[in-house]
Amino acid sequence: MAGISSGTLPPLLEASVTLDELYEHFDRLRPLRRRAASAILENGLDLDAHHACHRAPVCGETLSTLEETLHAIDSLPGSGSSREIEIDGRSLTVNLEYERTELQRDIACLRLGMKGVVQTLHVPGAFEQELDDVLELIHDRRYTCVFSDRDGTIANYSGRYRSSHQPLYAAVRLGRFAMTATDHFFVLTSGPLYGHGLLSLSAFPEGTVHLAGSKGREFVRSDGTAGSFPLREEERLLIMKLDERLRALLERPDYSLLASIGSGYQQKLGQLTVSIQDIHRSVPSEISESFLDEITTILRQIDPDRSRFELDHTGFDVELTLASDVDRARGYHKGDGVNYLIEACGLDLGEGPVLVCGDTPSDLPMLEALAQRGVETHAVFVAPDADLRARVQQASSAAAFCTGPDVLVTALGIAGQAMSVPT
Ligand SMILES: [Mg+2]
Repeated sequence: MAGISSGTLPPLLEASVTLDELYEHFDRLRPLRRRAASAILENGLDLDAHHACHRAPVCGETLSTLEETLHAIDSLPGSGSSREIEIDGRSLTVNLEYERTELQRDIACLRLGMKGVVQTLHVPGAFEQELDDVLELIHDRRYTCVFSDRDGTIANYSGRYRSSHQPLYAAVRLGRFAMTATDHFFVLTSGPLYGHGLLSLSAFPEGTVHLAGSKGREFVRSDGTAGSFPLREEERLLIMKLDERLRALLERPDYSLLASIGSGYQQKLGQLTVSIQDIHRSVPSEISESFLDEITTILRQIDPDRSRFELDHTGFDVELTLASDVDRARGYHKGDGVNYLIEACGLDLGEGPVLVCGDTPSDLPMLEALAQRGVETHAVFVAPDADLRARVQQASSAAAFCTGPDVLVTALGIAGQAMSVPT
């Protein structure tokens, strides 16, 4: 089944692949997904009503490549989503559920329209009820701005950040909302923007959304203009020193696996993140624990009084963030990011409302920063947790909740489509 396709098509996966080859293959699918999403929006196709967009040449080409990829993955040794992949010369069983599921949904989208996608969506709660709850808040409403987290909010969690590419049906849903229901749509993630970061993982059609990485410290706007929060020289040196030590640690054979699973190792502006576990719990706990001990030791040497870095352990990742300029007792957070983006992009939010979407407590500072500026906020949080829901309700003027990104993405798409129909 080996072969090289011509033109822009990515080469097919071989019968045996390394994890890097798989990543590179998905990287090459991204522009195809993006072109198809752009064509759907440019042609004003309503995929809730329109079922045959694969007849458009760009969409047809994307469809056959996605189908070939799914077939190639399903031909790897293993069964279902568990497939054998080579990592560091060893053959390991890897869970490819995210990659397979989103491929299947994109194929359904191009073949059958959103009707085909909706049949495959699932969340822990009651999908229809949650969809109604979210739509009741956002339907028929125009927002001066949207700030949305990515992972767990408008994207399903992937076992590996490196291949958490955005599916095209979600790019269409979200891109349409960005075009019709708001002046500015920021995707604000703690992940990196450049390298194998947000830019290279997104299929958003050109000109629709602004992408902000490193908790908002760096951004690329929908018109291509870019900016970043300046680091002081001493801060840059500290990050470099920490980066050197972490990379040396990850080169040790007992820890090299950690660079390949979950978030992997991410060098962001003002922050370094390294995975010590993934959602499939593929790392033995003693390795996670001893790696965390090593990091703590390094931090004690580089930042003895712990005034420069905040260490946050999220369960899967360890995040090492430079302290905030606003409050040296804490790390830079997404509220600082929102304030920076408003100033750097010269946004006039008026009185709002501004829509904030998130799924963890680390997204709350976005709401708090806007409230401090006197801006009305609406919040949609993907949050099964009652404590987090209570905190969201306290911090925003109005809120709706759901239990999975699939609900929020669907709701934003439906609301965006409704706004695009002249009344
Ligand atoms: Mg998240």
